Amino acid sequence: MENMRFKALTTLNSRQQSDFKGTNEAISSYFAVNVFDRNKMRKYLTHEAFDAVIEAVDEGKGINRKYADQIASGMKSWAMERGVTHYTHWFHPLNESTAEKHDSFFEPGMQSAGIEKFRGDLLIQQEPDASSFPSGGLRNTFEARGYTAWDPSSPAFIHGKTLCIPTVFVSYTGDALDFKTPFLKSITVLDRAATAVAQYFDRDVNHVVSTVGLEQEYFVVDEALYNARPDLMMTGRTLMGHEAARNQQLEDHYFGTIPSRIAAFMREFEEEAHKLGIPLKTRHNEVAPNQYECAQNFEEGNLAVDHNLLLMSIMQNIAKKHSLHILFHEKPFQGVNGSGKHCNWSLATAQGLNLLSPGKTPRNNLQFLTFFICTIRAVFEHGKLLMSSVASYNNYMRLGSAEAPPKIMSVFIGDTLKKVLNSLEEKIQNKKMTPDEKTELKLDIMGKIPEILLDTTDSNRTSPFSFSGNRFEFRAVGSSSNCAATLLILNTAVAQQLNIFKNEVDKLIERNVKKDEAIFQILRTFIIESKNILYEGNNYAEDWRKEAADRGLYAIDNILDAFKTYLEPKSKKLLGEANVLSEIELTSRYEIKNETFLKKLQIESRILGDLALNHIIPTAIQYQNVLIKNIKGLKKLFCEKADVMIEPQMHALEKISKHIKEIDSEVYKMIDERKKANVTENVAKRAEQYFYNVLPYLDSIRYHIDKLEMIVDDELWSLPKYRELLFSL
Ligand code: ADP
Ligand code: MG
Repeated sequence: MENMRFKALTTLNSRQQSDFKGTNEAISSYFAVNVFDRNKMRKYLTHEAFDAVIEAVDEGKGINRKYADQIASGMKSWAMERGVTHYTHWFHPLNESTAEKHDSFFEPGMQSAGIEKFRGDLLIQQEPDASSFPSGGLRNTFEARGYTAWDPSSPAFIHGKTLCIPTVFVSYTGDALDFKTPFLKSITVLDRAATAVAQYFDRDVNHVVSTVGLEQEYFVVDEALYNARPDLMMTGRTLMGHEAARNQQLEDHYFGTIPSRIAAFMREFEEEAHKLGIPLKTRHNEVAPNQYECAQNFEEGNLAVDHNLLLMSIMQNIAKKHSLHILFHEKPFQGVNGSGKHCNWSLATAQGLNLLSPGKTPRNNLQFLTFFICTIRAVFEHGKLLMSSVASYNNYMRLGSAEAPPKIMSVFIGDTLKKVLNSLEEKIQNKKMTPDEKTELKLDIMGKIPEILLDTTDSNRTSPFSFSGNRFEFRAVGSSSNCAATLLILNTAVAQQLNIFKNEVDKLIERNVKKDEAIFQILRTFIIESKNILYEGNNYAEDWRKEAADRGLYAIDNILDAFKTYLEPKSKKLLGEANVLSEIELTSRYEIKNETFLKKLQIESRILGDLALNHIIPTAIQYQNVLIKNIKGLKKLFCEKADVMIEPQMHALEKISKHIKEIDSEVYKMIDERKKANVTENVAKRAEQYFYNVLPYLDSIRYHIDKLEMIVDDELWSLPKYRELLFSL
């Protein structure tokens, strides 16, 4: 039989450099050509229809049927001029992908050849037969109907020959079956709360949006090698593989020169992304070999998330053209860094003022501090839920390893701001301030916050939630995840704190306390109450684990417990009162988290068992036979004298037998545990059984396989090794 690994390595060596030339045009000349944005709407829509869309986007107003027809027809004309034949509602079900079901514009006629049609009702709502998406018990199969409804705040775009219309996905009973629905709600809730507070400082503020900039980390592997690793293909990560002699110790990959094959791939997906209006800006090598990152420039949160999901799918498609495969998995390789998706988050007024950016005047800085402190208090209050929102089977393997953010929630703000908060706490007392005290406070504290903190903020790369001068950056989100799941919690938690803040300040104002003074006083309470969450030190340090536990800060110690946070009264209250996720919807997410966890683990366990029995053990036996033949030959030739000569071979034989025996017995024990778990009805209980009884076998089996990899003749080993997967590009 042909050795899969050598076959893959041969194609790798003979592979031609991709011939992607790309355009020589400036990016600005083709940016967003495939997006039905405002410019195109102006051209293809009537005035009324255009105004209707803008009002829907900016004011959240509904669109009436008459205009919907006009909009649909305008979209169709634009798309058909670009050779588009089909349209689809594009949505984000509660798994790690995006979904689409294509219908053609073409409607065959009875007597005629038929015509291309696209009506407003088809634009606005569809009922895909989508009963197989995860619903966490929200849909029984007999009422499996799910509806997709147009989200006008994210513009339609052309992908291939299809017009894609971003939509939400809800059940017959109106429960959200996707990430987008609650995320959009959280955006509205935050807008209201933040606008009300921003109006303390500027009456003209009528809208506040959350801005989001995402940094996407990923690994690239050669497609042929990828195809020769069934574990990578089926699970997205390597379930075995001895560490290469060299991995990232030399730290020579970070920001290094991008290999030409990868550079060609990057240029092609960037061009495609730019045509889709995705504001890709940065690309560089990451720390681990074959690991890279790209960052989108920040934009309104809903758009940023849509763009990230679209980007991931484009990257995978384009990678194929270059005979590459992208691994978005959080921890594809043991012993080297994993991948995350850093969520940079801030708040901006409709006029474009960043509310988390210090200003020139004490007044601007009071506004900055208000939003800054309310965000810190939100993380203090709901850090557990925020951290739990990133908990997944994949991310569990990444978080807390040396390189990744720890599983402990804390906030880093840097020395300058720490000092500002300390002085605010000291200077403001719960009594009326004298004019001198007020002046001192304004000039000495508020006046001296550097306008540009970006350079003065000592960046702390070990913190899970850190302030970077004009935004917060949450780094614990996993690279494969839909970050709306986390952002919706952050938005809602901050909105809650802003509402509480406003309430408290208004109460003081009613009692004739001057507005600024009222704001100072409430900020002071917020600082005192939430400073426990602030941590400026090294988050990787062992000491921090202990200190954080003493402080009572949340750490994901147990992944399944983290899922349970969704069921806690505090979480239900936060998301329920804000009308972002109902109790039923939260429970469904809890169920889905357990189910996904369990299914992934089940698949991994099956693949590992198969590979162990069908690839590893037979290969090891083959090598045993080689050794036996050799021993026999030596004995025949040298008789007793051979005893010394055959020692190493005998030694190897013994070791191989020991590992084979261990693998065999562990695999069958693991299968038994799976069988026991599989009869458990309750999903959460089954997940527990998998976690405690099946997962440990993955490590123990791997241990023996990796040992064998070091003994067995390289020529016989049929699965690509770490050094090949990680260093071949
Ligand atoms: P770093 O690696 O230092 O974090 P990058 O340039 O890779 O820096 O990423 C910074 C990210 O932060 C980008 O996506 C950028 O658009 C985003 N960002 C900058 N300002 C804001 C803001 N006001 N709101 C949200 N995101 C922002
Ligand atoms: Mg960053």
